[in-house]
Amino acid sequence: MTPDLIFHNATLYFPGNAPFCRKQPADPSTSPPVTALATTGSRITALGDDDTLLAMAGPNTRILDMDQHLVLPGFIDTHFHFYEWAVNLSSIDFAQTRNFAGMESAIREKAALLGPGHWILGQGFNESDWPENRMPDRLDLDLAAPDNPVCIWRCDLHLAVANSMALSLAGIDSASPDPADGVIVRDGTGIPTGVLKEMAPNLIRNVIPALTFGQLLENMEKAMAKAHAMGLTGIHDIRLMGGEEGTVALKAWQALHCGNRLALRCHVALPGEMTRQAVDLGLCTGFGDTLLRIGHLKFFSDGGMGARTAWMTEPYLDAAYGMPLTPIREIEKAVVQADAAGLSCMVHAVGDRAVHEVLSVFAKVEALNQSACRIPHRIEHAQMILPKDLDTLGRMKNLAVSCQPNNMSLDISLINQCAGDRARFAYNFKSILNTGVPTMFSSDAPVADPNPFAGIFSAVTRQRMDHTPDTGWYPDQCLTVDQAVDGYTLTPATVSGMGNVTGSLSIGKKADLIVTDRNIFTADSKDIPTTRVMLTLFNGQIVYERP
Ligand SMILES: [Zn+2]
Repeated sequence: MTPDLIFHNATLYFPGNAPFCRKQPADPSTSPPVTALATTGSRITALGDDDTLLAMAGPNTRILDMDQHLVLPGFIDTHFHFYEWAVNLSSIDFAQTRNFAGMESAIREKAALLGPGHWILGQGFNESDWPENRMPDRLDLDLAAPDNPVCIWRCDLHLAVANSMALSLAGIDSASPDPADGVIVRDGTGIPTGVLKEMAPNLIRNVIPALTFGQLLENMEKAMAKAHAMGLTGIHDIRLMGGEEGTVALKAWQALHCGNRLALRCHVALPGEMTRQAVDLGLCTGFGDTLLRIGHLKFFSDGGMGARTAWMTEPYLDAAYGMPLTPIREIEKAVVQADAAGLSCMVHAVGDRAVHEVLSVFAKVEALNQSACRIPHRIEHAQMILPKDLDTLGRMKNLAVSCQPNNMSLDISLINQCAGDRARFAYNFKSILNTGVPTMFSSDAPVADPNPFAGIFSAVTRQRMDHTPDTGWYPDQCLTVDQAVDGYTLTPATVSGMGNVTGSLSIGKKADLIVTDRNIFTADSKDIPTTRVMLTLFNGQIVYERP
């Protein structure tokens, strides 16, 4: 069959072949290296040298001279709150905000734009990196927008701050009890400060007018286009705080798929609290097609370090031990039930105590030897892990881990401050990888910037985006670019049962690939985060071309 597209004169990435990324032929004396790739329909149909592939061109073949540019498989972000990201496209993004004044002026601007009474939402603030070094409260937000309800989420999504109008619309006052698994922070006189932890922001969420389904689909399409521009062709859409979010997100993905508007390979997680219903329906992880699949049941064993709710074996330097979220016995019961039914589970575990407890649950489940899961269970984050638990991790047979290098850059100051030299157990990517457990990378967006090049930079340098600290934070845990790229491509594909569909440039796989403006394997590492995607091909179609 005549190819639709031929990419030639390219630097093609093949796992294990970095930094040159041109597949060396078995006998280099007789055949030149692989520098060209052809696609037909949705698939990669040929790999070879330029002359051989160009000879396959027909009158309708589009020929793209890559001018030696790097061609990578499309990235897969394995922990992406895509639904929230899409919904949030119309709210304020505080990721680049550097102080209170910046936060307040963004809110003031939005208030002027929307007019009084309209909800102002925002996310992504990281006060631990601000000079004021304190949490904003309702009074700060009242100053910026006294006539609008305002609610802003911290970058880790485990804490939100609401202003007085938002609190009153949600009926939160001194008399309100803390909700289950949540905390309404109060001042010395018992008045809520506006800071809401873990499940408490749901009290606010419940009174925010929702997008219509049509608006949601539009936002999701816009979000997919943004993802393509960053080089993403696959995501695992992860459930957040329960409620009807899971139902709406799954419906939206199906609607996009049925309308031929789905342009990402999507593995959709289900809310853990729906384990019973999922088992009763006979759903199994991996059900679906190459575009849309039922993913893992998602559970939370603890919170996050920013809110000091990650569950620790030793107290924080400035707080107690954090807290378990869903009780571990409850998680165990659900995992046992799901595992026997073919529903794989993913459990959020950030603190070292949470990671230890969750590992024990998965070890127990493996010992039952009852699994009907084709796709491994997962630990999400494993942000802090003790050496003895690394040993346990290495013994697990049906478990994978998804870690977030982008978050590490955001969290360096925070973890130094709250954990002191126990920070040496945090974000130990190399140690985790060395246990042999399949290790996938992800952004946890909107918690962190979903740009995979930012994640690769962080994994390789262990620096903040401003290139500090100089030699990297606990630099013995730095990865190679090849290892980092693998965590965004082949490993996630293989671990989610898509190893014959995507994740590498191989004949017969779907044509999901990107072209970059620089070779990240040979470039100075400080230039990795600003790498631009020049073209994204999804399912054989060009879905993004840099203007
Ligand atoms: Zn998350």
